[in-house]
Amino acid sequence: MISVAVNGYGTIGKRVADAILKQPDMRLIGVAKTSPNYEAFIAHRKGIKIYVPQQSIKKFEESGIPVAGTIEDLVKASDIVVDTTPNGVGAQYKPIYQQFQRNAIFQGGEKAEVADISFSALCNYDEALGKKYIRVVSCNTTALLRTICTINKVTKVEKVRATIVRRAADQKEVKKGPINSLVPDPATVPSHHAKDVNSVIKNLDIVTMAVIAPTTLMHMHFINITLKDKVEKKDVLSVLENSPRIVLISSKYDAEATAELVEVARDLKRERNDIPEVMVFDDSVYVKDNEVMLMYAVHQESIVVPENVDAIRASTRLMSAEDSIRITNESLGILK
Ligand code: NAD
Repeated sequence: MISVAVNGYGTIGKRVADAILKQPDMRLIGVAKTSPNYEAFIAHRKGIKIYVPQQSIKKFEESGIPVAGTIEDLVKASDIVVDTTPNGVGAQYKPIYQQFQRNAIFQGGEKAEVADISFSALCNYDEALGKKYIRVVSCNTTALLRTICTINKVTKVEKVRATIVRRAADQKEVKKGPINSLVPDPATVPSHHAKDVNSVIKNLDIVTMAVIAPTTLMHMHFINITLKDKVEKKDVLSVLENSPRIVLISSKYDAEATAELVEVARDLKRERNDIPEVMVFDDSVYVKDNEVMLMYAVHQESIVVPENVDAIRASTRLMSAEDSIRITNESLGILK
């Protein structure tokens, strides 16, 4: 049993904490929160122990939320910390993880240098085995890497050009926009996503462009891949069909808009309407000689959750990639 702490209980942290509770080989020690807001109240109601900064103990107790200890106590009580604090805050916590000699999993909002390796379960699990500090790449990069590493199984991927239509905010974020505009992210090429993919696949020729759209539900990617050799469409569809964490959506279901995909998650009674799989529109897969084009949707709030669970197993050398991906998928109800 590996003892896990989650530092930062927001969009990603609450999902990772719930995922840890479902793993047969992991125990959730508790979560760290800085303010006694609704997320802290709900964690407490679920029976999750809450650790806070020393100076916040009084504030939490006055709000009726019992405190199990300080964030340092949480780190000390765990074998590994999943740091899901906001962008850049994880790097500030690294000295504490180092002081107590604890392994840590960081998120894509941190610079790649914060960790020994940037991680995508389908691409480089084996390279991450035993690494003390692992960074799970961002939601968009996770989707790009899953797709690229899967298509690479047909024949070598030589070049990738991708356009990312990115959601403006998560559903709970009331102060973010835009609400009436498409905003290049940024209006220069490449966007940072290409560099992030290169943090995992070092020498890949990849250029990305991104635009922010006024939606909260999902991102959508339009991707153009050049392969070393000519391929058949059926072979591309077959690897996508057989890959874990990628789902091919048939046009016969009439679910092409992100709102419809989220409705499917609601109808399936998925927790929080989450969709951790990359949702590829099967009719979008276009193959000409050595060129492959496709479109897929990415649920930003949940796609990195299974990756965090696998990163814990890789860091602590608990098991092989295949076994970890299978157990994570089964425990989280991921379609395959
Ligand atoms: P969030 O703002 O929803 O959650 C962050 C949590 O950390 C909040 O509960 C906040 O109260 C807490 N926090 C703030 N300062 C803290 C501190 N000093 N110590 C402990 N806790 C603190 O953020 P998020 O969206 O969950 O993002 C977390 C990380 O995950 C970021 O690196 C982000 O880039 C990455 N990420 C986010 C998404 C997404 O769509 N939201 C997707 C993939 C990766």
